Amino acid sequence: MLILGGTTEAAALARVLAAAGVHGTMSLAGRVDVPMRHPLDQRIGGFGGVTGLVDYILAHEVTHVVDATHPFAAQMTRNAMAACQNAVIPLLALTRPAWQPVPGDNWQRVTNIPEAVRALKKPSQNIMLAIGRMHLSEFAVNTQHHYLLRLVDPPKDPLPFPKAHVVVARGPFDETEDQALMKLHKIDLVVSKNAGGTGAYAKIAAARALGLPVLMIDRPELPQRRAVTTPEEVLAWIAHTGTDLGV
Ligand code: NAP
Repeated sequence: MLILGGTTEAAALARVLAAAGVHGTMSLAGRVDVPMRHPLDQRIGGFGGVTGLVDYILAHEVTHVVDATHPFAAQMTRNAMAACQNAVIPLLALTRPAWQPVPGDNWQRVTNIPEAVRALKKPSQNIMLAIGRMHLSEFAVNTQHHYLLRLVDPPKDPLPFPKAHVVVARGPFDETEDQALMKLHKIDLVVSKNAGGTGAYAKIAAARALGLPVLMIDRPELPQRRAVTTPEEVLAWIAHTGTDLGV
């Protein structure tokens, strides 16, 4: 079994598979300095596109692939769908439902990062830009804002913003602590990806409690695929698909 990971849900799946005695390998992109802990074998780094992933599947006699990547890791998801089709092995996505606004939320929804950047073309604010490291530079055009960034690792390169403060921390986060952080930095607006799940939700709940608006970036559109939301459903899927290629 090959698990495409990099999420809390993938780590939870690894624990369930290990406890059930299922042999699997966790694949991580290698974006963070210290990878998430889990009890399975691990490989790190890209496969080299669809062809590289097909080669890996065949060379390691992978019989099942679980795509437990982040909802915004669209390239990896598309590659996994194409590679499993080419290699004729079953693929299942382990996903988490998108967050939905509840009473008290004040969300402005945008469809992607460029639209979020355009929405920030306005007078200076204190903005919590909680979107990870990968797309920060796209926000650099709006130099007027003061940005609060929360990153898993300390930045290795100079930040693309003239006014920014970095908090180095890894989720899951706590709502009370996020409220305190927002008050400390006098945050006017929170920018977030609609990641879903619990680990990153604290900032959304904290914004609601403080009456702050959230600029919420919708998930990328993905092709239809078979998906479940719990590790137990993955176990059931393994039991029902067996190990026959093409099932
Ligand atoms: P992406 O844009 O979909 O993927 C870009 C390339 O990175 C892929 O084509 C693949 O390279 C490699 N890659 C991605 N995930 C991989 C994995 N689990 N194992 C091996 N190679 C992987 O992905 P991303 O948005 O940069 O995310 C990278 C990783 O961070 C994922 O594991 C994801 O679960 C995690 N993550 C992402 C976010 C987010 O907001 N995007 C947030 C939290 C965690 P090749 O084509 O060479 O195979």
